[in-house]
Formats: sequence, C-alpha cells, structure tokens
Amino acid sequence: MNDDQHKKRQISLGYIAIALLLIFGLQFLFVRGMSRDIPYSEFKQYLDQGMLRDVSVSPTDIRGVIVRSETEQEAFVTNRVDDPELVRQLEEKGVRFSGRQANSFFGTILSWVLPLLIIFAIWNFTMRRMSIGGPGILNVGQSKARLVADEEAKKTSFRDVAGIDEAKEELNEVVEFLKTPSKFEELGGRIPKGVLLVGAPGTGKTLLAKAVAGEAGVPFFHISGSEFVEMFVGVGAARVRDLFSQAKGKAPCIIFIDELDALGKVRGFNPIGGHDEREQTLNQLLVEMDGFDTRAGVIIMGATNRPEILDPALLRPGRFDRQVVVDRPDLNGREAILKIHSQSVKLAKEVDLKVIAGRTPGMVGADLANIVNEAALLAARRGKKSVTMNELDEAIDRVIAGLEKKKRLISPKEKKIVAYHEAGHALVAETLPNTDVVHKISIVPRGIAALGYTIQLPTEDRYLMTKSELEDRLAVLLAGRVTEELIFGDVSTGAQNDLMRATDIARAMVKEYGMSGKMGLMAYERPRNPFLTGDNWMPTEKEYSEKIAAEIDEEVKRILDETHDKTQKIIEEKRETLDSLAKLLMEKEVVDREEFKKLLKLAV
Ligand code: ADP
Ligand code: MG
Ligand code: ZN
Repeated sequence: MNDDQHKKRQISLGYIAIALLLIFGLQFLFVRGMSRDIPYSEFKQYLDQGMLRDVSVSPTDIRGVIVRSETEQEAFVTNRVDDPELVRQLEEKGVRFSGRQANSFFGTILSWVLPLLIIFAIWNFTMRRMSIGGPGILNVGQSKARLVADEEAKKTSFRDVAGIDEAKEELNEVVEFLKTPSKFEELGGRIPKGVLLVGAPGTGKTLLAKAVAGEAGVPFFHISGSEFVEMFVGVGAARVRDLFSQAKGKAPCIIFIDELDALGKVRGFNPIGGHDEREQTLNQLLVEMDGFDTRAGVIIMGATNRPEILDPALLRPGRFDRQVVVDRPDLNGREAILKIHSQSVKLAKEVDLKVIAGRTPGMVGADLANIVNEAALLAARRGKKSVTMNELDEAIDRVIAGLEKKKRLISPKEKKIVAYHEAGHALVAETLPNTDVVHKISIVPRGIAALGYTIQLPTEDRYLMTKSELEDRLAVLLAGRVTEELIFGDVSTGAQNDLMRATDIARAMVKEYGMSGKMGLMAYERPRNPFLTGDNWMPTEKEYSEKIAAEIDEEVKRILDETHDKTQKIIEEKRETLDSLAKLLMEKEVVDREEFKKLLKLAV
C-alpha cells in the first residue's frame, strides 16, 4: 500500500467521525439543549403547584413545559425516578400527559445510520484494497502483464548471458522462428508452443527469456505466476484470457510466465468442494494454450525452479512440451559470467577472473553478479581507483556467508565427497564390459537433489536388456556409495537416489524377469495396467504369501550385497586411477569423454 492511499483512507475515516459527532451534537441541541435540566424534586414542586403542561414520560426521562405565566413558559427535562405516585399525582392535578418511547427521533435515526455507516466504511476499505494498482474495481480482470514492450528486454541479448551455452543453443531455434515465422511455415517444421526453463534460482532463467525476445526483436510480455492468483474467484482466469488476447494482437511475441509453479502446482481434490481460484486460473491457461496455433507467432515461455511440483497437464504435448535445463555454470562458465558483469567495473590489472571462478564452485549467475557488485562498492568505499583482488576476495566471503545461511553452498569437504562418488560411478562403468560409455562426469550441482552426475550414453538402441547388463548397471549404481565407504570410511546421504534405483532393478530381476535362481521362473508381479499408471498410480495386488515376500526380500538383498562386494573389488584395484580422476574433477568440475580416456590411458 502506498502513502497516497494511506492518506486517503485516513481522510475518509476522519469524515465519518466528524459526521457522527455532528449527529450526536445535533441530537443534544434539539432534544436537550432547548429544555432546562431540572432536579426531580423541583419537578415535583412544579407539579404540586400545578404549573406543568404537556408532560411526556419515557422510561428514562420526563419532559414538559413549566408555565409560570401566559408569556413565561419553559421547556424542561428531568431524569425519571422510580415514583409509583407520579401517575396518580399527574391525574390529580389535571396535567395532560403521555407516555413516550425511550428513543428519541434522533436516537432512532442513529440506530439505523450508525450500522450503515460502519458497513459503508468497511466496504469502502475493502474496495480500496482490491483495486490497488488499478484505477478502480472495474479493472481487476485486466492483465497486469507489462504489455508495453519491455524496453529492457529489447536491449538484452545472448551476449549478456554466459555459462549456460546448452540452454542458449536450444533456444536459438525459438529465436529463428520468431524472426521469420514464414520460413518455418513453408518447411512445415513443428515449433514448440511452450518452452519451460528449469533451473535453480539465480541461474539466469528470466535473463535468458528476455534475451530470446531481444535477439528476435519481438515484444516481451512478462508476468509472474503469483500475479495471477488473486482474491476474487474468476479474476485470475479473466486475466489469463486478457493476456492471451492482447498478445495475439501483437504477434509475433513472447509471453513469459515467471515462477510458473505458483500457478501450476498439481491440482488436487479440494476438501471444501469445487475448484479454487488457482485451479480455475490454471485451467484457463491450459485452455488458452490449447486454443491457439503456433503459427500465430506467439511463443509461451515459463520458468520454474521446482518442475517436480508442476501439474503434469502443463507438460503435455502442445503445452510446455519443451523443457530447457538451465544448469549451474561450471568453471569456465563462471569465468565468462564474471567477465560480463565486470565490464562496467574498473578492475586492477592483477585481477584474474579465473581464480575467482575457481573459488566459487556451485555459485550461480546471480551470486557472481553480486560478488562483482559488492567488490565495486567496497573499492569505492575505500577510495580506490580500481577493484583489486583484495575486494573481490572479501566480496566472495560475504556472498558465501549469505549463501551458507540459505544452505545453498557446497563446502570443500562436500565437494571432495561428490568428486569421489562420481569418480567411482565413472570408473566402474568404464571397467565393466556390459555398460554404456561414460560421456561426461560433473560435480556441478544440478537441479535440487543431485549434487553431481555421470552421464552414460547407450551405444545402440535397446529393447532388451540381458541379465549381465542389468548386473553391471547395478554395480555402476552402487559404485558411488562403495567409493565413499572406501575413501572416507563413512557414507553420505548423496547415494539415496542410486540405492533406490538399484533396489528397483534388483527387485524387478527377482519378481518380474525370473533372473534369480532361487525364486525360479515364476513372475511375482505383472506389469502395471497402463490405464492405472501415470497420474493415478495404484499399488497392484500382492498375489503371493508373506513367506514368499520374505524370500523375495532376501533374494533382492543377496543380489545387492554380492554386487556391492564385486564393485568394491573393482574400485580397490583401481584406487590410483580413482584418486587422479577425483583430483581432476575437483579441479575442473566437469570431465568429458576425451579427458577421461586420456586419464585412463595414463593410468594403465
Ligand atoms: P532466475 O530467473 O533464474 O532466478 P535471473 O535471470 O533473475 O535468475 O538472474 C538474476 C541476475 O543474475 C540477472 O539479472 C543477471 O544479472 C545475473 N545472471 C544470472 N545468470 C546469469 C548468466 N548466466 N549470465 C549472466 N548473468 C547472469
Ligand atoms: Mg527469475
Ligand atoms: Zn551417485
């Protein structure tokens, strides 16, 4: 709420208060002010002397006129006292009198007006709150997307984005399409309707989306998912409709929905019944995305750092069907990002950005931009002419301290564990005969859960897997864990996903594929009914006894244990290679196939 609105509300409340005071005052004047307040005893005296006229009695007071002479009359009021004699005396003296309701005319009005005023004040207050950001209540359905082509986006280009080259490459196609839609039409190529940027916070998703618009030179409609979700039911949906119709008029263009997860969380059952506001908005978004043709030249981009909570409906073909992973930058990437951000900063000659990049593993673009900025501020405060290594070092420490609080940083110890873990996977994969080739090993954290990864590419398309292939795959999965045990004498939580996948494979070998000698050829589980899988997964019925279940568990455990020992032997044998691979990983963070092969050759 801004100051202006604050003031306005205070003024209107002030008016109400003044009006109330006025009404009270008037009532006082009319009813009380014109009659003299007299004590009851005095009233009784006048009554005795027969000087009263036109008396009216209410439960609380008595009013009337004192007649001193023909010309000297005076209205009076007195508080009523419990006096059973009163009526008899009045009759005795022949005074005209009447009973009266307790409430005066003004009292009656007041009892109506006051609640009305209060209701009006509350209504007024709520209306103001709802229409903040727009001139009035009639505007709530209008889209807040900044429809005037974002000037900032126009100035942004791929040159401003570094360290995420793979994502850039993937988005190049979108740029080409937006530049010359007709070319794609002629070729009949399929253009994605929706592109979802997935990556940790600060990796440059928003920046990248702007750069796409800037490169293509098209208008950029930027709205955040949380802006759709409003207080009024139906407003979010109206906003989506409005946004799309406006965008269609400006095609070719980009609609960018930042923080898509705020809007696109999995729809669930609503215990109160009916759809809630967010769901309605999401449904409207799905309808709009289905309802238009890519050839209209509108590309929808979304960004999220939590793809796992998105409603699966959003990711279906024809919606956000292309996902672009925006990774954390590796060593070279970080150097490139630092270079971009230090363009406008005067660096001392001695500064080596490579060294800075080496000191900032796991950091994302936003963190690095922050470091350069911090360092420049420090240098200015110290009255230096240029930013030296000194300031940069201090800036790194500050940013690290901030990140540690948010638990987003990898410590050197963790880095070593991850390096050995991944080296173990890679080494075993390369040693065993029936595995896919190791394509790339990385200890740059990816996504939220995985701290590192080893990518293996299959050499041929596969429909069947043999028992020995499955066994070797199991060994590769366990290798990370085994390595940790051997090197550190301790294990970390990093192997959770590996163990889960290994257990699944071992269980399937026993229960579905008849690959365990002891359990024989019997299939203990059918493939799940495809109509029941997917969104509404249901456990299948168990068709065997508890005894068999225990035996299966034992078999699964045996397979895993045997694989563990086999893997351990391999790693013990290749300990030296493992050490040098882990060392290389810690240095470079990413090791590709070439380098890996070179290292293996040296070791032999
Ligand atoms: P996200 O949307 O992924 O959370 P942003 O795009 O908002 O991240 O990034 C915030 C800022 O960090 C950007 O404006 C830019 O200055 C800097 N930044 C992030 N990633 C990069 C990158 N890859 N290259 C250059 N600058 C980056
Ligand atoms: Mg963002
Ligand atoms: Zn692993």
